[in-house]
Amino acid sequence: MRVLVLGAGQLARMMALEAIPLNIEVQAFDVRSDQIVDPINQQVLGEGLQQALRDADVVTAEFEHIPQVVLEPCEQSGKFLPGSRAILSGGDRRIEKALLQQAGVASAAYAEVHSKAELEAAVQQLGLPLVLKSALEGYDGKGQWRLKQIEQIDAVWTEIAQFLKQASKKAKQGIVAEQFIPFDYEVSLVGARGKDGQCVYYPLTENHHVNGVLSVSLPRLAHPLQAQAERMFQLLANELDYVGVLAIEFFAVGDRLLVNEIAPRVHNSGHWSQQGADTSQFANHIRAVCGLPLGDTTLLRPTLMVNILGLDQLPDCVLGIAGVHLHWYGKAPRPGRKMGHINLAADSTNSLGQRFAELIALLPAEDFPELSQMQSRISIS
Ligand code: ATP
Ligand code: MG
Repeated sequence: MRVLVLGAGQLARMMALEAIPLNIEVQAFDVRSDQIVDPINQQVLGEGLQQALRDADVVTAEFEHIPQVVLEPCEQSGKFLPGSRAILSGGDRRIEKALLQQAGVASAAYAEVHSKAELEAAVQQLGLPLVLKSALEGYDGKGQWRLKQIEQIDAVWTEIAQFLKQASKKAKQGIVAEQFIPFDYEVSLVGARGKDGQCVYYPLTENHHVNGVLSVSLPRLAHPLQAQAERMFQLLANELDYVGVLAIEFFAVGDRLLVNEIAPRVHNSGHWSQQGADTSQFANHIRAVCGLPLGDTTLLRPTLMVNILGLDQLPDCVLGIAGVHLHWYGKAPRPGRKMGHINLAADSTNSLGQRFAELIALLPAEDFPELSQMQSRISIS
């Protein structure tokens, strides 16, 4: 069995690593270079999408910003899971918002805006503050503007107009204006839907961002909003006739969840499952798209994940902390780039808290901003 992953980054790599013991081969198609590569070592295996599609039994994706010229032949191959509607819904906020409405799941009220006049109308309709998001290519909080006061409309629209002018002509960029949600905290649900429509869910995971980028994820056992999240997952996954791992990011407001966005793929907030669950999200995605039974997603032990940004080395003594697992992606370092992650596990929440404190003391504070403040903010027990 051979799986072709669109995208050759760390997510494809971690899927490939989990596929080896299942006797499944994973190849990756690098959309930018048009090359087929081994996602574990980036070795070039071939050239061109047509060859890659011919040689694959199943085609899937590790990211949602896939050009139409790539998406179309994948869909036509009849091998593409979770399918182009799911990918487009993750990659275009206009399609995503329409999907959320259609599936009947709650999310922030919004309007599409194409001009300053439409932005003014959106302010009238939705109120302030607004979060303005580029429809395409947004990730890690990039392509976003906040509009807090009516006096800022001119300045904010000037910036957005400049952004739209520079946008690629190939795809139709746009702006979605969304009501600002004064949420209590952010959680995500990662789950998998099999070809038979059966779903499995990991525990709701609390996510902590620094400068718009995920920093720490902490799965929560028996979270009171788990059932609500699972219902919303089912509505969306059934609407898309989804096969594979799907992640949903939520805002929690009191006892209510609002969907922020969906990711039609394995997700950074599910990386803890490599150590905290019997079957990781990567293994379950491979199982789902290959039509195999899905694996157990129960939280086996208290676990958390810390992202490593911009660094390709950590002090060796980090590995001396019991329960630390390092996952490097083998990428060249750039400031802010996701380079790897640390999974930390323990036998009790108490011990996880202690180990987290030990870990923070060993990590260079300048490279992990706000981690020590987070330690006091996140209540692990
Ligand atoms: P990523 O790819 O890292 O998930 P993104 O660029 O796709 O991020 P969003 O998830 O939409 O962007 O937004 C990034 C963060 O900005 C959210 O996690 C949340 O903290 C904040 N945010 C986004 N939309 C809103 C909103 N409507 N109200 C309040 N905060 C928001
Ligand atoms: Mg997000």
